[in-house]
Amino acid sequence: MTVHSALPGHAGPVGTVHLVGAGPGDPDLLTLRAARLVMGAALIVHDGLVDPRILEMARPSARLVSVAKSRSRHTMKQEDINALLVAEALGGQDVVRLKGGDPFVFGRGGEEAEACRAAGVPVQVVPGISSALGASAASQIPLTHRDHASIVSFVAGQCKGLSEQDWSGLAGKGRTLVIFMGLATAAQISEKLMGDGLAPDVPVAVIEKATRSDMRVLRAPLAGLAELVADHAVKSPALIVIGEVARIEGGLADHTIRAMALEAEQ
Ligand code: SAH
Repeated sequence: MTVHSALPGHAGPVGTVHLVGAGPGDPDLLTLRAARLVMGAALIVHDGLVDPRILEMARPSARLVSVAKSRSRHTMKQEDINALLVAEALGGQDVVRLKGGDPFVFGRGGEEAEACRAAGVPVQVVPGISSALGASAASQIPLTHRDHASIVSFVAGQCKGLSEQDWSGLAGKGRTLVIFMGLATAAQISEKLMGDGLAPDVPVAVIEKATRSDMRVLRAPLAGLAELVADHAVKSPALIVIGEVARIEGGLADHTIRAMALEAEQ
């Protein structure tokens, strides 16, 4: 829907920017609202974590713009992405901005919403299933459990600021710590936590490509985290879950989960 709501001086209709969560991968985990928006969109601006099967749901005539980011390779800077969304909307175009997981969980959706509001562009946010929740469900590792954890923290594990951030108390008895973007810093993460007094044998699960057909769940004690990541050549995207819950096996061996997912795929 186009409305006239840009800043004074702007002539013509203004499009809406929809910040849409695409979930953790499996297209079945899209919300109905997200699916409707994807199927109706004329313009989709998406990042690299969005599963190709979701993009295939778009109309053949839809314009798909990838603004994929990775740790080492930035195809588009955040300010350029913001500027693109604003420019398209001010040109009268509704935009579906598709982001992996939930747009407001480490998705920089907050910055994009601010940029749009500052330009007088209306913004709608559609929540998505964050990879933390998708990974928990797919691995059957509950993030809370009456016997093990009643506090959950979501933390970004990139290098930037890792050494200065105060993580004390985030992990330990009764707690689950979920680390996003922590693969490259796995060694620093375990050292930091053990330096804060966490026991080296606290269970850790690494969940790679959660909800996708090639998902893997790998486990080690905290002291063995870096080795686990290296030995199994774990690739992004992956989450690190630290705490007693990471011991829970969900009744199925991890390789069985993987085999089932592959079967469902065929
Ligand atoms: N907004 C997203 C997070 C974006 S940050 C969300 O709510 O999930 C990118 C990080 O998310 C990745 O480095 C990884 O840690 C995690 N991630 C995203 N999708 C994932 C998946 N399918 N499996 C495991 N981790 C995933």
